[in-house]
Amino acid sequence: MKITIVGAGAMGSLFGALLAEGGHEVRLLDIWQEHVDAVNEKGLSVEREGKIRSVVLQASTDLREVGKADLVIVFVKSSQTEKAAETARSVLHKDGWVLTLQNGMGNAEAIARVVPASRILAGTTSHGATMLGPGMIRHAGVGPTVIGAWTGEEPSGAQEMAECLSRAGIETVVADDVRSVIWNKLLVNVGINAVTALTGIRNGQLLDLEPTRWISRTAVEEAMAVARKLGVRVRDDAVSHVFQIAEATAPNRSSMGQDVDHKRRTEIGAINGYIVMEGAKLGLAVPVNRTLAGLVETMQEHF
Ligand code: NAD
Repeated sequence: MKITIVGAGAMGSLFGALLAEGGHEVRLLDIWQEHVDAVNEKGLSVEREGKIRSVVLQASTDLREVGKADLVIVFVKSSQTEKAAETARSVLHKDGWVLTLQNGMGNAEAIARVVPASRILAGTTSHGATMLGPGMIRHAGVGPTVIGAWTGEEPSGAQEMAECLSRAGIETVVADDVRSVIWNKLLVNVGINAVTALTGIRNGQLLDLEPTRWISRTAVEEAMAVARKLGVRVRDDAVSHVFQIAEATAPNRSSMGQDVDHKRRTEIGAINGYIVMEGAKLGLAVPVNRTLAGLVETMQEHF
């Protein structure tokens, strides 16, 4: 299968490498020239549990060099999705699929503004990756990937792509209600990311003090109220689930924490900021999310 990855940073490069090793014809598309050059010259170096392997991949910054793909995977940060969606549209075969496994909400909606919604697959992944430098990534964690048809139509596409990902070692299952899956992941990000980013703590330290737990819990409860008013099914035990994830990933800095540490733009608009936006539309007060989003936005504006 011809697969193009739009946004070949940590996760895009990882999925590109695994799919290329699985025998697919993969092309990475990214705006980062140094990374693209390094991949083309030396291959992509993938470190996993201390072992390094090199994967031969083709990379490009120019979409005109890329033919039409059967599957386009969008892996930019959510603030770049609108632009990446245009690129995805240009390189997508008319019978192909666009898949987003990005964090936060609003990514599939942004893609659906330029690609027919019935060709969009969305979901979540528990794989983790870190960028080590141009042409170099670390495969930091392995876990299940869940995908589904964004409109609920054409579930056969989701099944076919799930099988393709699984055969390449990315264990993937299909969900009927993928919105609910994405929302449940969003709740984890709502409860952990901004709090850890603003305070400089690691995920596990979120649980040390009651005032920190209160902020996290209340942010998640506000988001659950928004989800339910939108008619989205979210897990009843979302708060304890968030706390379990914080404990299971105790030594880690959240992705938003890492973005703040490196003075990079965060995905706040697609996480707590999304809850603020939807809360306003529904007439629901979400003061804790509003405060968290406002503080992170202020911080990133002044990097
Ligand atoms: P990243 O910053 O490492 O990679 C994003 C890449 O997109 C960069 O290389 C950047 O140059 C490129 N890019 C930006 N604009 C572009 C454009 N218009 N066209 C093409 N490329 C463009 O980010 P990441 O960590 O790989 O995360 C990607 C997404 O996956 C995020 O939504 C993140 O939340 C999610 N995610 C990350 C992890 C993880 O472990 N890193 C795990 C699960 C989900």
